[in-house]
Amino acid sequence: MHKLDSFDRVLVSLSGGIDSAALLYMVAKQYTITHRTTEIYAITGYGKPDTLEAAKFVWGYVKNKFGRLNWKTHFDYDNYYDKSYYSHRGKADHEHRSIFMEEHNIKDVLHGRVKTTLTEEQLKQCETQYPQAVSKLLLNSHVIETKKTYMPQNRWEYTIHRPISNYTKSMVVDYIKEHNANELLTKTISCYKQKKEACKQCPSCLEKMDLLGHY
Ligand SMILES: [Zn+2]
Repeated sequence: MHKLDSFDRVLVSLSGGIDSAALLYMVAKQYTITHRTTEIYAITGYGKPDTLEAAKFVWGYVKNKFGRLNWKTHFDYDNYYDKSYYSHRGKADHEHRSIFMEEHNIKDVLHGRVKTTLTEEQLKQCETQYPQAVSKLLLNSHVIETKKTYMPQNRWEYTIHRPISNYTKSMVVDYIKEHNANELLTKTISCYKQKKEACKQCPSCLEKMDLLGHY
C-alpha cells in the first residue's frame, strides 16, 4: 500500500468482501503507528443482508484488533438504485455516500479496488453474464487511477483514494494470511450475488476458487 496522506477523518468503503477488509486492516495498522487521532468511519452500500452482515463483521473484527484508534461510525444504506436515473451503480453510490460525508465533514474515501488475478480467458467466460464488470476488470489491469475527485449532484465534493490498486487479489490474500487474519477470508462475501452461498460463476467466485481453493 502506498503511504496514506494524513487525514483528519477518513471513510473506508467496506463492501463485505476480501479487498476492502484487507484495506481496513492495512489502514488500522498504519494509523496505529502514524495517525492515531484520525477519525475512522466506514460505509457499506448493500443489496442483500448477507453483505451488510459480512461488512459489519469486518468492521468489528479490525476495530477489536486495533482498539486504540479513533474509531467512529460504520454507516450503511440500501444501494438499490433507479437505472433510468443513474447510468450505473457507481453514480448512485457517490450520491448516497456524499450525504453521510457532508453530515460528518468527511472529504476522503478509501476504496479497496485491486487488480484481478484472472486471465483474460477466464474473464471472457463471464463476459456474457457480467459485461460491465468484466470490462472494468480488464481496464483496471492496465490503467490505475489512484486518486479521483468527485462532485456529486448534491455538491459535496470529495476525493476517492485507491491505495491498493497496485495490488493483485493474490497479494491481498497473502497479506491477510501473513497477518493471521484468516477470518477476513472466510467470513467475507465477494460473490457478485452478495449471498453467503457462492454463485460459482462470477469473476469474484472464480478468483476465490483459484486463490483459496474454496468459494
Ligand atoms: Zn459469485
